[in-house]
Amino acid sequence: MVGGAERETMPGPGMARNGRPRIVLLGPPGAGKGTQAELLAGQLGVPAISTGDMLRQAVSSDTELGRRVQGIMAAGELVDDATMADVVKDRLARADARQGFLLDGYPRTLPQAHTLEGILTGAGRELDAVLLVEVPEEELVRRVVLRGRGDDDREEVVRERFRVYREKTEPLIGYYRERGLLYPIDGNLPVDKVTSQMLIALGVNG
Ligand code: AMP
Repeated sequence: MVGGAERETMPGPGMARNGRPRIVLLGPPGAGKGTQAELLAGQLGVPAISTGDMLRQAVSSDTELGRRVQGIMAAGELVDDATMADVVKDRLARADARQGFLLDGYPRTLPQAHTLEGILTGAGRELDAVLLVEVPEEELVRRVVLRGRGDDDREEVVRERFRVYREKTEPLIGYYRERGLLYPIDGNLPVDKVTSQMLIALGVNG
């Protein structure tokens, strides 16, 4: 990156050609996606959309959706793709997501990636970048166990979430790499360093 004030508004490699970017955060459980999503979304002026938060909200409000997904989440499994498609379609249709968004926790399967592509193409839009947050597995287990949020943080559930990540979500890395959208980010650094790497990848001055 070259310095200079004009760079702040210049589209970078992963940046939207017009307006604000549409970004996906990809990475294993405990990689710090939630923290980074909030920080980055603030910098970019787009909403951070966490499907995990939306589902936890549904569980705590005891909605029909919440009752349906509670056990699945507690076991560290994935909610089915059709349910997630409804959740994400509704959320991306809201006004605040029209000009860009940062998705945290979606897509998590290849069918979900296809669904997202369909939603965006249907609206004449496309994804600008997929930021892959990379952290070594033992560090991840340590972080997730330390976070100790409750039921879904018992070690066996944590291990199950990793297994599911490797089986269902990791194939997305190749999928997005082939499309030229993948930007690997070293997530094993202090929080602010991770954010600035992401901004650099997106071509925004951090
Ligand atoms: P997260 O906070 O992103 O780790 O999500 C917490 C839990 O919500 C996951 O372990 C899944 O059970 C469920 N979940 C969140 N996003 C998705 C998704 N895109 N597909 C399937 N399940 C999801």
